[in-house]
Amino acid sequence: MKQYRGLAASAGIAIGPAWIYRPTQVTVERRLVADPAAEWARLQTALSMARTQLQALEARARENIGADEAAIFSAHQLFLEDEELLNSLAGLVKEQRLNAEAAVHDAFEHYAQALESLEEAYFKARAADVRDVRARVLRSLAGAGESEGELTQPAVIFAEDLSPSDTVQFDRTKILGLCTVKGGPTSHTAILARGLGLPAVVSTPINLAEVDPGTLTILDGTTGGVIIGPTLTELDRARKRQAEWQTRRAEQLSAAHAPAATLDGHTVEVVANIGSAEDAQQALEQGAEGVGLFRTEFLYLDRETMPTEAEQEASYRAVFAVMGSRPMVVRTLDIGGDKAVPYLGLQQEPNPFLGWRAIRMIRERPDILEGQLRALLAAGGEAETDLRIMLPMVSSLGEITRAREILAQAQASLQAQGRPLPARFQFGIMIEVPSAALLADHLAQHVDFFSIGTNDLTQYALAVDRTNERVTKLATPYHPAVLRLIKLTIDAAHAHGKWVGLCGELAGDEMAVPLLLGLGLDEFSMAPASVPGVKAAIRRWTLPACRAVAAEAVAQPQAIDVLDYLRGLTPR
Ligand code: PEP
Ligand code: MG
Repeated sequence: MKQYRGLAASAGIAIGPAWIYRPTQVTVERRLVADPAAEWARLQTALSMARTQLQALEARARENIGADEAAIFSAHQLFLEDEELLNSLAGLVKEQRLNAEAAVHDAFEHYAQALESLEEAYFKARAADVRDVRARVLRSLAGAGESEGELTQPAVIFAEDLSPSDTVQFDRTKILGLCTVKGGPTSHTAILARGLGLPAVVSTPINLAEVDPGTLTILDGTTGGVIIGPTLTELDRARKRQAEWQTRRAEQLSAAHAPAATLDGHTVEVVANIGSAEDAQQALEQGAEGVGLFRTEFLYLDRETMPTEAEQEASYRAVFAVMGSRPMVVRTLDIGGDKAVPYLGLQQEPNPFLGWRAIRMIRERPDILEGQLRALLAAGGEAETDLRIMLPMVSSLGEITRAREILAQAQASLQAQGRPLPARFQFGIMIEVPSAALLADHLAQHVDFFSIGTNDLTQYALAVDRTNERVTKLATPYHPAVLRLIKLTIDAAHAHGKWVGLCGELAGDEMAVPLLLGLGLDEFSMAPASVPGVKAAIRRWTLPACRAVAAEAVAQPQAIDVLDYLRGLTPR
């Protein structure tokens, strides 16, 4: 028996034979061709094969996982249409008479390296996508399939790394769990695994050459534990834990549609973070009572021009239709930081998270916010939407005042066109910059609600870049300094009669439930899959007990003390 510990990436326990994923390796030979025109035609056939495969993968991802995942494959198709890339391929084959394989290798590599040399994490990450597409085209040229060997029976998949196309091509019914050597909890593997509801462990220090295919394995996506060739005792223990987990999950799901109230009857809203209409549907299935964060960026990413107002309105209408009259918190465009959109005039910056990001765009481009607000109000006005619009990354009062002016213009222009405005409407801000938390008493007087973004609040309060793997362990929202900022925010809002939500990852962590209830949080917003577990955790507590937990946690000197204390209170 061999044991390893990686990073827990998606909850659940998988027990089954190991299947090692080894993508087909295509060796690239290099030669000059006698007939460049024929070679160019051969390359065109391979490119169109790759395009067809990507269209199929896109459709499969949309059907089985969601729109965000499907978007990865539509972005891959865009690479195959990139004019610069196609010109460089033509130059290499037609003019330099290089064979198609070598031309594909060189042209895509050049493109990937150019992306890697850029500062922004978003572009760096795209380099992996370019290489993924290159491998696909090379396989098409070689007439090879996606990988060596087929996944014929249910198995735990082991891989060095998994690209999105790797993961989606597997037959969902044959995957018991996923284990990768590379990747972090926010890697594509992790995101896809969570979307599929599969247990996953990433960053596992394991040598795949030592794993015999077919060996029985246990993978615990809650603890990050991986066992190869378990003893009978270990296997028994895992089977018991798996059964308990499945029973607990089934119980949680069966109660997921009931309200979340503490033992003494204190009710809070449990809502979801979404990015599309498909996510909204999933959120309802998991028992979410509405949406606490609709990240609207998805509409603007992976395209080359600004969506028109009509396009925006249509997308919002689709999401609003799913949610009906339930609470619908929409965040205005949060671009910049690690999310770049070239056509919006973003430039390379030394510190993009401290730069021209989110609400800061309104000084130079008020038209973007005005257009988005008009589209949101128009879509909400036609439906029964309980529309709550919020601004990201607010750091001072002036931003709220300016945004309110823009909102008034958007409302006036719709009224001038005789279009109805939403019957129910609230205007709020995210609290994710420490200055906003510290001034929450002032800001609360100018908005209807706050939603705390602990992902960014942690990064800004503790000075840790959330995308830098080397310091990521320091970025814990359980740091008492972050907890104090949360407390300050909630207290200030309540003093002015305003409600407070929390939509960072912390809200979906069952361990944080008594702490956040005790601090007085009114609304918890999280990934749809976390809703049943968080609702169940809320039902285990009374409000006075939670208040005592919060007071104890906030008084701790270090994050580790808070974590030790809360772990002791959380059933496993
Ligand atoms: C946050 O910062 O906590 C948040 C919810 O926003 P995002 O993760 O989209 O920056
Ligand atoms: Mg944020």
